[in-house]
Amino acid sequence: MSGHKLLFDGLKLWTSGRSRWISRLHDGINGRVQACFSSFSPKVCIVGSGPAGFYTAQHLIKARQDVEVDIYERLPVPFGLVRFGVAPDHPEVKNVINTFTQTAKHSRCSFYGNVNVGRDVSVEELQRAYHAVVLSYGAEGNRRMGVPGEDLAGVYSAKDFVGWYNGLPSCRELSPDLSCETAVILGQGNVALDVARILLSPIDILKKTDITQPALEALVDSQVRRVLIVGRRGPIQVACTIKELREMVNLPDTRPEMVAADFEGVTEAVKDLPRPRKRLTELMLKTALEVPGEKEQERRNRASRVWAFRFFRSPVEILANPDNNRTAGIRLAVNRLEGSGEGARAVLTGEVEDVACGLVISSIGYKSLPIDPSVPFDSYKAIVPNSMGRVQQAAGLYCSGWLKTGPTGVIATTMNNSFDTARSLLEDMDSGTLDVSAARPGSQSISGLLEKRGVRPVTFSDWEKIDSVETSRGDATGKPREKLLTVEEMLQLARK
Ligand code: FAD
Repeated sequence: MSGHKLLFDGLKLWTSGRSRWISRLHDGINGRVQACFSSFSPKVCIVGSGPAGFYTAQHLIKARQDVEVDIYERLPVPFGLVRFGVAPDHPEVKNVINTFTQTAKHSRCSFYGNVNVGRDVSVEELQRAYHAVVLSYGAEGNRRMGVPGEDLAGVYSAKDFVGWYNGLPSCRELSPDLSCETAVILGQGNVALDVARILLSPIDILKKTDITQPALEALVDSQVRRVLIVGRRGPIQVACTIKELREMVNLPDTRPEMVAADFEGVTEAVKDLPRPRKRLTELMLKTALEVPGEKEQERRNRASRVWAFRFFRSPVEILANPDNNRTAGIRLAVNRLEGSGEGARAVLTGEVEDVACGLVISSIGYKSLPIDPSVPFDSYKAIVPNSMGRVQQAAGLYCSGWLKTGPTGVIATTMNNSFDTARSLLEDMDSGTLDVSAARPGSQSISGLLEKRGVRPVTFSDWEKIDSVETSRGDATGKPREKLLTVEEMLQLARK
């Protein structure tokens, strides 16, 4: 261990910045157990408090007894897409918040909400204050369809629609018009199925979730009875997983309405598919082609709402009403497949089909955006270029989560890729590639900058005040929580 560090065995020291007693034991490279003076601890800053930010922090804190981690988050509330993406009727998925809370409350972790990195503080300023900066700010942009009519009223991105029902402050004003009978969702991934399920779920189910009150009220009045989930390719290429498909199949008061011809050749192909894809395809085949048992047939007959996959179709144009001011339909190109299996390509046949609908939701993917000109960014892949989480040509800069890989995979995938980034960072510390020999001021200098700029961060205990108000408001209406919908209200409560 380098000579500049003050090492005391098991010594308890008062840290000026955090007002608490700490005991830091660091199992050094040479195997000796040593305690380090906290002001010489390696200081890591993480940008973004979604799963990537928290899993990176968790791994760093567990792996080294001397690392201090500060998490900066744009919003006053933590947890990223676990709060603003995961569907309200998937409460079990949100249990990861318990683990994140443990990390946030760790003596060597601090949370600074309400800090927009790139605007309130630059990445270069963070790099000067910390030994390492990990960018984990997710994928908040939206892929556009690039078709005429995309900006008509009645067309929404799944990102905004999901943000609306999940209480993302920037989507509060969306107020989607649900007065039409047919909605078309473009894309056949899990997000598309989440949106379809929320549009069709009985209100009795939704009202027990943490869906926002305005969204619940809009869904009570919704006239949407038919949801078409459109994909460029065929049943063997859908991007959803079996859990989400099963939820659609079993959704009360709905029935599937598939086109049998879309499944030509699928029965024969299914046996050669890899296992998860095989099970998914079998469930689709069963739903589309099998004659249901008496009970299921009765259930389907009674259903007042319909959902369906529409395969081999790509959007060509959103069609306007006669006043040319809102969506009245969508023109779809009919495709055929070239090749087979998951890699098959959609090729236009030249045919088109018009579908009448008043609502179009495009669920064709999220994308990361650059937040600071000093950070390398691959605009084509919409990620920060990196190898194993080390940002290319930027010493001391790392990335994890969707910003690192692109917006694919579930929380478990994000966890693994964030652990990998943490491992890279730790390896660099151990090898000396990442210089931690000189003390860095960490949050002390950043707090000063923020104060000068009139930015007041929200701490984790401030968040806990918001959390407690949200859960007690939820208790009053039988929901797990009633989310605050504006940044102003969140800040007001945090500062009480
Ligand atoms: P995010 O979760 O997006 O976190 C990024 C964080 O960075 C956010 O808190 C954001 O506010 C913050 N940030 C952004 N810009 C800045 C800035 N400039 N300064 C500071 N902070 C910033 N996975 C499952 O396992 N199960 C599910 O049911 C599930 N449902 C999903 C539903 C939807 C609609 C979506 C989109 C994803 C879902 N996922 C689900 C996937 C899961 O949400 C992702 O794998 C995971 O959230 C990615 O984590 P992340 O930390 O990279 O990004």
